[in-house]
Amino acid sequence: MTLLHCSYSIVSVVDQIHRRLGYSGGKLELAQMFDEFPGFSLAPVSKNALPRHALAAMVRRGGIATIAFDPEQDRRRLRFSIAHEIGHALLHAGHLREFRIPQRSRNPESVRERQANYFAGELLAPPWAVELALDSMIGTLEFPACPSFPLLRQLADHFDVSVAAIRYQYAGFASLRQGPAGLRP
Ligand SMILES: [Zn+2]
Repeated sequence: MTLLHCSYSIVSVVDQIHRRLGYSGGKLELAQMFDEFPGFSLAPVSKNALPRHALAAMVRRGGIATIAFDPEQDRRRLRFSIAHEIGHALLHAGHLREFRIPQRSRNPESVRERQANYFAGELLAPPWAVELALDSMIGTLEFPACPSFPLLRQLADHFDVSVAAIRYQYAGFASLRQGPAGLRP
């Protein structure tokens, strides 16, 4: 399954989560998500306990998806890492070989990673909330195709994500606005 084919179902899952949490834009409190969805648990671990190069990992035991994470990493990156692992928990059987996940999978690792990143971006800064934020920050519907760094930083603060994450979300948002579905009269 390609990312494109999967993106509609990812948006649908994210939308259900947002509605359950009563999310109306801005910073999504991940703690609220863990309160609402008892199927997840968080486990802070030392960096050495995680697979090499990983900031977080997910393991499924007895119906509970446990997200192990390195609490020392930058807070905004941590939020994205945890959201990424929630994505794995909702979309994939498991994640990372070192956590005894079967190597055989219908989705190659790279596709699963892209799906989890896509999920995390949509969860923390969905396009409609980016539009709401831009509207309040710029005061016009004529949003720049190439946003300035200060604007990106303002958006990153608004959603409490990294500038890299919001730059990616903004690019997706901008292409929606410029594509055939977003043609202006
Ligand atoms: Zn991953």
